[in-house]
Amino acid sequence: MAQKYYHARLMSEQTVIDSLEFARAGQELRGSLPVTRLMRLQDCLFDADGSVQFVVRGGRDDERRPTLAVEISGLLHLQCQRCLEVLEYTLRLSNTLLLVRQGEDLSANAEDPEAADCIEASPETDVAALIEDEILLSLPFAPRHTDDSCRSVVDKSQREVEKSSAFAKLAGLKNLKQ
Ligand SMILES: [Zn+2]
Repeated sequence: MAQKYYHARLMSEQTVIDSLEFARAGQELRGSLPVTRLMRLQDCLFDADGSVQFVVRGGRDDERRPTLAVEISGLLHLQCQRCLEVLEYTLRLSNTLLLVRQGEDLSANAEDPEAADCIEASPETDVAALIEDEILLSLPFAPRHTDDSCRSVVDKSQREVEKSSAFAKLAGLKNLKQ
């Protein structure tokens, strides 16, 4: 089967696909999105530097249901929730999304933690928004530097060293007076 292949120039072009048709035909879309284009994501970041690379592949799961498999990678600037400085975060995620028809009952699926994530099929699925959703769902809730690279931890231990040496001096003075 000849596979249709799109290489999106997403800076200017639309990223809208007919998701069911895309899955049925086993199409593939790959490209990159600058963070500046992902407004909701930007709100969660330290700054809007960088871009994310993605691949979306249409296909079917074991039960022949239509799916979109997404792979996303990139480097984002999160904000450390301890020192509020920039934290470099390597984004690497893949997920397979089950396409469901509008209004389809998903309650059975929602109760099964093993079940695939679902999205509503649409002739106008916006790939950029879908990629953004996946990234937002994957971000750590409260990102933090490791102890030895976080400024607030390093500062704090620095302050403690200073404090204890100040106490030592005071104690020394006291001893002299006695
Ligand atoms: Zn930090």
